[in-house]
Amino acid sequence: MNTEVLSGKPLAALIQQRAHDGTARLDEEGLRPVLAVVVATDDEATHWYVRSIERAAGRAGMGCRVLDLGPDATEEVLAGVLADLSAEPTVHGIILQTPLPAAVRADRLVGLIAPEKDIDGANPLSLGRLAVGQPAFAPATARAVVELLDHFQVPVAGRNVAVVGRSAVVGKPLSLLLLERDATVTICHSKSGPLERHTRSADIVVVAAGRTGLLKGSHVSPEAVVIDVGTNVLPDGSLVGDVDEASVTGVAGGLSPVPGGVGSVTTALLLLHTVEAARQSSRIELLTAYISRT
Ligand code: NAP
Repeated sequence: MNTEVLSGKPLAALIQQRAHDGTARLDEEGLRPVLAVVVATDDEATHWYVRSIERAAGRAGMGCRVLDLGPDATEEVLAGVLADLSAEPTVHGIILQTPLPAAVRADRLVGLIAPEKDIDGANPLSLGRLAVGQPAFAPATARAVVELLDHFQVPVAGRNVAVVGRSAVVGKPLSLLLLERDATVTICHSKSGPLERHTRSADIVVVAAGRTGLLKGSHVSPEAVVIDVGTNVLPDGSLVGDVDEASVTGVAGGLSPVPGGVGSVTTALLLLHTVEAARQSSRIELLTAYISRT
C-alpha cells in the first residue's frame, strides 16, 4: 500500500492567503483586524509558537498584540486583562495561551473571553454552541483536521471515524464537527481498552492523545486515513506526533504527519477566524448605526 502524505503546508498557505485577502477587504472599509494573545509563562517553546503567530499575522496584514504577563501573573490580573480585551472594540480575536501559572483557574479565565472574540473556541459557551449546531468558533486545531480532510477530498459523511482523545480543545469539538458532517464517530480515551478494537474498523483515525508512538500500523485497517494531531518533544528536542509513522506507513491510505500536518493549518485558521470575527463586528456596528438612525 502506497501511503499518501497529507501535508498541511499547501492548505495552510491557501488559508493564510484567504486571511490576507479578507484583511485587505476590511482595510478598504477602514477596519484592521487585530488579534490579542495573552501569555503568562516563561516556557520557551510557547514563546516561539507565539512569535510564529505574530509573524503569520504580520504576513496577513493584520495586527497582533502580545500581552506577556510573565509566569507569576495572578488570576485577578489575567481576568482583568481578558475582560478589558473582551470590551475593547479595536480587538477582534483573543487567545489565552497555555500553559498558565499553576495557581490560576483556567476554566474561569476562558469563560471571560467574549464568545464573539473567542477565535480558538476556548470559552465553554463556544463548545456548547457547537454541540447544538449554533454558530461558534471551533478550536482551530479541531477545524484544521476537518479542513485537511476536505482539502484532500476524504469523504466524511457516512464514514466511521475514530477520534483518540476527548479533551475540550481537540477531541470533543472535533467529534462534534465530524458528527455535523454526518460521520459516525467513536471517541476513545485512556479507559477505552485496546485501541485497535475501535480503530481497526475506522475509515479515518484522528489521534490527539499526546502519547508518542501510540497508534501503530496494526491498529489501523488497510487504506484508512490517519491524521496525527499529537505533539511530543523528544529528549533530543525533536518534535514527533502520536503515530508510529514507520509501522503505519505502508498500511494506511493516507497519513498527515507531525511535523508538517495539522499544526501550520491551525495557525492559519487562527488568523482566518480573526478576520471572520472582525467582519462580524463591522456588520454588528453597521446594524447598530442603522437601528439608532431609524
Ligand atoms: P489532553 O488534554 O492531555 O488530552 C489527551 C486525551 O488523550 C485525553 O482524553 C486522554 O484520555 C487521551 N489519552 C491519553 N492516553 C491515551 C491512550 N493510551 N489511549 C487512548 N486515549 C488516551 O491533550 P490535548 O490538549 O487534547 O492535546 C492532545 C495532543 O494534541 C497533545 O499532544 C497536544 O500537544 C496536541 N495538540 C496539537 C495542536 C496543534 O495545533 N497541532 C493543538 C492542540 C493540541 P483521558 O481523557 O481518559 O485522560
